[in-house]
Amino acid sequence: MNTIKSRIKTCLSQIDNHAKAGQTVDLVACSKGHSIIEIEQAAAAGLHQFAENYVQEALPKITALSPQHIEWHFIGPIQSNKCKEIANHFAWVQTIDREKVAQRLNDQRPASLPPLQVLIQLNLEQEKSKSGVTLDELPQLAETVSRLPRLQWRGLMAIPKQHHNPQAQQHVFKQIHHAFTTLKQRYPQLDTLSIGMSGDFQTAIEHGATMVRIGTAIFGPRR
Ligand SMILES: *Cc1c(COP(=O)(O)O)cnc(C)c1O
Repeated sequence: MNTIKSRIKTCLSQIDNHAKAGQTVDLVACSKGHSIIEIEQAAAAGLHQFAENYVQEALPKITALSPQHIEWHFIGPIQSNKCKEIANHFAWVQTIDREKVAQRLNDQRPASLPPLQVLIQLNLEQEKSKSGVTLDELPQLAETVSRLPRLQWRGLMAIPKQHHNPQAQQHVFKQIHHAFTTLKQRYPQLDTLSIGMSGDFQTAIEHGATMVRIGTAIFGPRR
């Protein structure tokens, strides 16, 4: 068995072990810094959702892999001049962080494609190095995104800071999950909480993740 295939098997069984009965968790493979051949191997091992952070890096991969019927997620910071390409080539955008970008993605989503599946990125700890809205800004952006007809708003995405103290780490996940369940009371259609990466996906799943984004644990270190 090749390494990518066996790593995927390990990830899937860990996901299974940490999910509660009835909790489905989608595995999105983060392929930035990895080649078309490596993505093909992961697709051959059964994965069909992949994520990229940079439009320039993603487009050649999306074109080359078009026969594979991959669902592509955009997970990088969004520059507004890149909205058109993102709206044309991706099925999901997980990093909506402002109204202007939401409006542009909506306006530029081609009529021939289904609505763009989107998540709002939450930056709970207000880290300057990361995009995303604060808890205070969330309700207003949520209202805007929920009304845009070419976007289908599915939930929240976050990249929580790594805390060495497990209690502090769990506290952040609890707050994110709380924000998600609170929003769901107003928007019952929400079904996606995208938290958890190679280093913390088990904990994220225990705190209600329905989608994990895993790079290193599938592909190994990035070049
Ligand atoms: C790269 C990346 C990941 C995957 O990170 P790993 O630690 O390699 O699993 C997940 N989410 C985002 C937003 C990323 O940029």
